[in-house]
This record gives sequence, C-alpha cells and structure tokens, in this order.
Amino acid sequence: MKETIKKLQSYIPEETINQVKKKYHLSYINRLSANENSYGTSPKVVTALQNFDFSKSNFYPDGYAQELRTKVANQMQVDEKNIVFGVGLDEIISYLSRVFLEKGDEVIIPQPTFSEYKLNAEVEGAKVISVSIDKLTGRYDYETMLTKITSRTKIIWICNPNNPTGVYEPVAALERFIKQVPQNILVLIDEAYIQFVTGLKEASALPLLKEFDNVGIMRTFSKAYGLANFRVGFIVLSSKLAEYMQTVRLPYNLNSLSQKAAGVALDDQAFVKQVQAKNAIERDKWQTFLKRVGLKYYPSQANFIYFYVDNSAALADKLLSNGFQVRRGLEPTSLRITIGKAEANVRMQNIIAQYLNKLD
Ligand SMILES: *Cc1c(COP(=O)(O)O)cnc(C)c1O
Repeated sequence: MKETIKKLQSYIPEETINQVKKKYHLSYINRLSANENSYGTSPKVVTALQNFDFSKSNFYPDGYAQELRTKVANQMQVDEKNIVFGVGLDEIISYLSRVFLEKGDEVIIPQPTFSEYKLNAEVEGAKVISVSIDKLTGRYDYETMLTKITSRTKIIWICNPNNPTGVYEPVAALERFIKQVPQNILVLIDEAYIQFVTGLKEASALPLLKEFDNVGIMRTFSKAYGLANFRVGFIVLSSKLAEYMQTVRLPYNLNSLSQKAAGVALDDQAFVKQVQAKNAIERDKWQTFLKRVGLKYYPSQANFIYFYVDNSAALADKLLSNGFQVRRGLEPTSLRITIGKAEANVRMQNIIAQYLNKLD
C-alpha cells in the first residue's frame, strides 16, 4: 500500500437523485449541486445515441478517438497531436499528476478551487501549497502565488472561471502572470465552464498556447455540452507534453458511445449558444436577488453562483426539503447553487428570502 494513499479520503460523489428522494421523503428533486446542465442535452445527441449501432459491441473502441479528435482540433484550431482525451477532465487531472509529479514535488493551488487538483497531487506524494483568493473580489492573488514558487514547484493549477466562486480571470492577467513563471513549471488552465462566459469576444486562454510551451488548456463535455454522463474531457498542450501523457493513458479509455455523443454535441453549437444565453439571463437575476437581500456573492461567469450566508447548512436543508439540492460544505458559511431554469430560480429565491425574512 502506498503511504500517500493511506492518508487520503475518497471523493464523495453526488448521491443519486433517487437516493436523495428516498432519504428526505421527497417526490421531486432538482439537483443543483453538481453544475450539471439545467437545459439537458442537445436533442441531436439524443437522436444520434438512439441510432447508435450496438451490434459492434464486441469490438474495442477507437483508442485514438480519431473522428472526435479531428472535430475538436478543427474547432480549437490546434493540431490533432496537441490533444489528449480523458474519461472526463477528472481523468486528465489524474494523468497530469501521474506524469508530472513525484514525491516531494510541489503544486500551487488557489483556495478555494476544484478539489481534484489537490487530491491527485497528494496521491503522488506531492505537497500542496494553497494560496487564498482575494476574499473581496474572488480574483487570484498572483503576487503571492509567485512568491510560493520553489525549485520543487511542478504545476500551478488555474481554474477559469473558478469553481466554486464562478469568478473569471481575464486572459491578459493570466498572460502577465505566466510570463513571470519559470518555463519548467506547468500552468494548467481548467476551462470547464468557459462556454458560460459572456460579454467577451474571446474568453479562452487558448491563444496563450502559441506563446508558452508550459501551458495546458482543459475542457470538458460535462457542463455546457450537457454530457456529464458520458465522461469526455480533454487537454490541449504542446505535442511533446501530450506524448508523455499518451504513454500513461489507458489504451481504450473513451468508449464509442461517448466519442459519438461528444462529436455530435460539438457540432451542435446552437445548443451551447442557447444554454449560454439562458444561463446568463438567470445568472443576472440571481445576482440582482442576492444584492437585494444583502448576501455577499462573487460575480459569476459560470453556470453557478457562490454566496455566503450564516448557518448555511440550515438554509441548504430548507432548500432540500423543498426539493432543491445545492452544494454545501465548501466553506463553513457558503453555498454554491447551480443556476437552474427560470421557474426553479424564482422558487429558490423565495425560499431564501423567506428564510432571511426579506420577502417583498
Ligand atoms: C466539473 C468539473 C470538472 C470535471 O469534469 P468531468 O469532465 O466531468 O470529469 C473539472 N474541472 C472543474 C473545475 C469542474 O467543475
């Protein structure tokens, strides 16, 4: 048994909707705790899956995911050799940690952020250096991050927009930061929610790949594309680093059904645009509401909103008893709510206002 594993606790996944219903005696549950797509899946994906040829199930899938690879390469305007696919971004995060981290290495991680970066670093015996975000704005504290760099630093994780805060980091700020990071350190930018960013012509840090060999850009089909069940994510990075990752990748990690679903989802950009637009309208309403009731929140560019409230567990219980499951436990007095559809948001906001005695 690896010593590093003995110290770890396994990730507690979302309970299934049926488990939660049973536990709380609910007939209805709207799961808004995992940032899944509130607008479902593209109907084109559903049709393609219904027409899928299952009679070839005795064959292994295409281990290189060639068809999907070509589509993604075209869409991102990168070379096919720059892409590594994973069973969700979760798998990419584990591959990156496995390839680039040794015992005693260090990774720099903003706090709070997505928990998988830390977990996977610890599996490899690496030391996690957490740097708090600016509590007022939610922005990254680049200056402090730079002071934490040592000769053992191997990876700096950046989540943009950040989960759980939803705060977006402008690419110019990232560029200024990366220029000051030694080139032997990887800067990995997780863009799981990038499609939800509005008001910018180019939100992605993808153009930085041309400037820096030590940058990787990560994407997933789980959120804006509404395909969480199919587990498809990928990273774009230099072909040299991509090759290292290919050596540890499981040969047939993506099954054919997942490859098909992701390819069709990628083609249906109209669906993504619609999701982005509807989400932005509802996100604005949440922010207006939180301002009105006087709860501190971070300006979100994602499909969730993060706010602070005293006794947040009691409010989460109240929401749950009304059928709304939200994310708790990230910080003692915070909740993260995936932005739902219009009607659900109104109901949740009424419950919160009532809880705070602030109904109009
Ligand atoms: C949801 C999420 C992921 C995981 O995505 P999968 O592709 O479903 O594994 C990765 N990073 C962040 C920041 C996320 O919120």
